[in-house]
Amino acid sequence: MFIHHVGKVWYRLYWAYITLASLFLVVVYFVQKAIPPFNHFGLPVVTSSVLILCLAQIIYGLSIYWLIYKRSDALATFIGGMLFVLVIVSGLNGSGLTNAALLYIIYWLVVIVFSAMFGVLISAGAIFLPIVFVLSQYNFQIRQPSAASIVLVVGSAVCTFIGYLFWRTRFDDQQTKAVSRLSTMLRSNQQQSEILIQSIADGIIVIDTEGKITLMNTAAGRMTEWPVDEASDVDVRLVVKLHKEHGEELTKSEDPFSLALQQQQHISRIVELMGRVSKKQIVSLVISPILLPKANELAGAVAVIRDVSQEHAIEQQRADFISTAAHEMRTPVAAIEGYLSLALNERVSSVDNRARGYLQKAHASTQHLGKLFQDLLTSSKAEDGRLSSHSVVVEMGAFLQQLTDEFRLVAQKKGLAVEYLIGTANDRDIENDKETANVHMVRPLYYALVDPERIREVMSNLFDNACKYTQQGKISIGITSNEEVIQIYVRDTGSGIPAEDLPHLFQKFYRVDNSATRTIGGTGLGLFICRKIVELYKGRIWVESTLGKGSTFFINLPRLSTQKAVELQHQSTSPATPSTLQ
Ligand code: ATP
Ligand code: MG
Repeated sequence: MFIHHVGKVWYRLYWAYITLASLFLVVVYFVQKAIPPFNHFGLPVVTSSVLILCLAQIIYGLSIYWLIYKRSDALATFIGGMLFVLVIVSGLNGSGLTNAALLYIIYWLVVIVFSAMFGVLISAGAIFLPIVFVLSQYNFQIRQPSAASIVLVVGSAVCTFIGYLFWRTRFDDQQTKAVSRLSTMLRSNQQQSEILIQSIADGIIVIDTEGKITLMNTAAGRMTEWPVDEASDVDVRLVVKLHKEHGEELTKSEDPFSLALQQQQHISRIVELMGRVSKKQIVSLVISPILLPKANELAGAVAVIRDVSQEHAIEQQRADFISTAAHEMRTPVAAIEGYLSLALNERVSSVDNRARGYLQKAHASTQHLGKLFQDLLTSSKAEDGRLSSHSVVVEMGAFLQQLTDEFRLVAQKKGLAVEYLIGTANDRDIENDKETANVHMVRPLYYALVDPERIREVMSNLFDNACKYTQQGKISIGITSNEEVIQIYVRDTGSGIPAEDLPHLFQKFYRVDNSATRTIGGTGLGLFICRKIVELYKGRIWVESTLGKGSTFFINLPRLSTQKAVELQHQSTSPATPSTLQ
């Protein structure tokens, strides 16, 4: 815009000046009307047209001015100034360029000084107008100008100059003002977020797409024992050294920072953070990728590290207590079970039929209690990584056949058929490989490096579930494979599992809440233990189920080639690592 801007206070001053000046002229008009001799005291001539313009000026100044002022203070003042110029021109017209016009001339000169606040263009107009006015008064032929006209013209030039000197340092450009306001805001926002990030008790680390640290707060510095300035621009994997919860080193493919950047997904882990000097602490690490809002382009990742050493120690104590208690209680329970078996053995003792019934119930409950203690012990060991495994080469085909034969009796008691399908072309393909067809021709050997006792535990839990949750039909145990993976499945024709429960099934103590599970006993540890054992062998367990039709639990385990299996069997000649090739 051609109008320059100055501080608000100046606009108000100008407003006050033109409003009061108009008011004064109105007063003069009425005084002159009331006491005509006043005309002779050098007061200006206030004609009725001047009066009307003055009233318009006052009304504008008290109402419309403020409405426009809200949108643009400069424009409201400029319009007020123009109205006042009309008052002056009309006044000068009435007075002629005589001494009686003195007040109007002074008014005009002050207006010229003020007008310079709107910039050079308006100033030029302000000086041009009085000259044109004077010339028009003399019909553009000046021979003997009056003193008043000389004062007006010369005064206008001087006042323009004074105005220029006065205002030139007081202009404040709106754009500059907006930019400076924005930069102050940004600066204060940046300061605010910096203060916030630094005050958070959790460690915060921001990395770029290459894994270099771009921001790290003091808490993260304290945890990693790295000075914040030194860590800047260093590869995060050097600063945040991580081990697994139980002390083993993380492999490259397990590095959560690389995973978060590669997969562009949130990664959450409980890990051990190794300080630069000596500090070790268990931390919860959550890494979130930073994606640019519109382009969805990866800009880096932000990691939040929380020290959970204390919680971990408490959890550890709790797990220790459970495993010690379960371990201690298992022995007397085993003794009770043994004695109950003896009491039920007709060759050893004689009891009447009623007592036998009671003893059988007590025996079943003790067996249940024994399994519960065993499960508690296994699950607490699995949680803190103490699950022992004496891995040997096992031919899973024959091993599962043997297990199925052992389990068969329990199912048959319930009227359920049991089938074992070895190498059957399963109606589904194993991940990444669809060529499992030739399994029909020669019975393949499915070697795996596992602890047979642990696999027995898994299969027993799955079979136990299949029996428990199936009222009629059959249970199928099967094994198929491709070159790298052995797939075992346990299928039943039971009640099935609701879809919303499927993701939680392998969590500790999780049980589907329905009338069937409420009557059928269980603690919800079986599948949790299965998962932990399968993961121990770098395998995967999952379930597919249709409500009312049945469920199939699948296990994938890494397969050993026959050559590798034979090699391993030869190597393990020492008695400490027995190897069974079944
Ligand atoms: P336990 O610790 O004695 O094994 P549980 O059998 O209840 O107790 P899990 O084996 O972990 O515990 O099984 C969890 C839940 O999954 C069960 O409560 C049951 O609701 C559901 N479930 C597991 N297997 C099946 C199945 N074959 N058919 C239907 N539901 C099943
Ligand atoms: Mg179970």
